[in-house]
Amino acid sequence: MDTRSDSAKAWLPAECRQVIEDAEKTLLSDDLDRIDTALHALVEAHELHMDIESIGLNAGTNVINPRAAALLGRSLGNRPSLGYPGDKYEMGMEHAERIEIVTEALVRRLFNAPFAEIRVGSGALANLYAFMATCRPGDRIMAFPPEMGGHVTHHRAGAAGLYGLEIHPVPYDAARMTIDLDRLRRETIRLRPKVITVAGSLCLFPYDVGAVRAIADEVGAWVLYDAAHMAGLIAGGRFQAPLAEGAHLMTCSTYKAFGGPPSGLVMTTEAELAERIDKIAYPGLTANFDLGKTAALAFSVLDLLAHGVAYADICIANARALGEAMAAEGLPVHTIAGRGQTESHHLALHAAAFGGGQTASKRLAKANLLLCGIGLPIAEVAGDLNGIRIGTQEITRWGMEPKDMRQVARLLARVLKGNEAPGQVRPDVIRFRRDFQTLRFVRAV
Ligand SMILES: *Cc1c(COP(=O)(O)O)cnc(C)c1O
Repeated sequence: MDTRSDSAKAWLPAECRQVIEDAEKTLLSDDLDRIDTALHALVEAHELHMDIESIGLNAGTNVINPRAAALLGRSLGNRPSLGYPGDKYEMGMEHAERIEIVTEALVRRLFNAPFAEIRVGSGALANLYAFMATCRPGDRIMAFPPEMGGHVTHHRAGAAGLYGLEIHPVPYDAARMTIDLDRLRRETIRLRPKVITVAGSLCLFPYDVGAVRAIADEVGAWVLYDAAHMAGLIAGGRFQAPLAEGAHLMTCSTYKAFGGPPSGLVMTTEAELAERIDKIAYPGLTANFDLGKTAALAFSVLDLLAHGVAYADICIANARALGEAMAAEGLPVHTIAGRGQTESHHLALHAAAFGGGQTASKRLAKANLLLCGIGLPIAEVAGDLNGIRIGTQEITRWGMEPKDMRQVARLLARVLKGNEAPGQVRPDVIRFRRDFQTLRFVRAV
């Protein structure tokens, strides 16, 4: 056997193995300068594609303030920083530890949270911290199932399962996209979970966190709100205020609607949980926690403190306008009788007519219209996701407004319904996108 077949990942799908093999063949050689040049060219091509020539409608991404982004490349991030400010293991940290102090205080201010943990690598790890602070392996939790947007970190393959938790679904009412509170109460009393997790990767409408808390209190369970996607709106005082409504814990990613560097946060109202999370962060799961990323996060929080309300309002207004425009184009927007299409920056389309969520997304991507599939509580699509998810956070930061949404809907409909070749729509996408190249809702000093 040659070394190539030894290192081939036999468990990967064949088409992925093919892509990897082709890229290795064209990009790798013994000429290190050639590899260096190729890597730089890839970065340039990626940024041109994503930041300039595509309409980014993937709810799970955003553009970052260039001033925050610049901090990610500083030497600050290379320096480890272990222990509490005022008593760091390393010497010379008297400036750095103040960055940590300020960032944490700004996060607490942003979310009106008594406690915040910033030494968290990602939203997935934030959920692991929350589970570790509240559960022992073998304990039960309840979480949204995939068809209600429940995230893999709540499930067997992710943080919850890897930590050894027994996972049960939060019962839901599909027709109303709500938690079925009567069944949740019965199941909670029967299962006595340690944690009830609320929210997930698609949040069209707020959830009744107060009612979940009342049910949790009957068995002494903790309530965890996963704000990976909604944190950017919650920061602006929109959508809902999970901690004020009764969640003991709120986790989030910081690179989705939040618009910051890739990272995670854990907020809590409970001193008891905050102390456990502090020790999970250090000495538990981090040593160096990347001060460069921490400083970038502080600048992203300043953006949200300054502009978060207007940003959240336009994200939501854009989603409403896009939802209406897509429906007018005849696209099957997921709509709830009496509630409408959305109260957030998210929208969902039924994907069955387009071959499934990922199949449709791959077709749209060829037209530079970027989004992803999602699970919806409707009929399944064999071999694919049954929904398409849209988020307006990135196009909002690029300056698009409700008046622009008819054109976005038209471009989507030309690929999805009009059966135009994506390559034919692509130049029109690039042309339209050209007018939106300046970031809004970022502080420029
Ligand atoms: C994206 C997401 C996460 C994971 O966040 P990362 O920062 O990417 O690790 C966790 N929970 C939900 C609901 C998500 O959508």
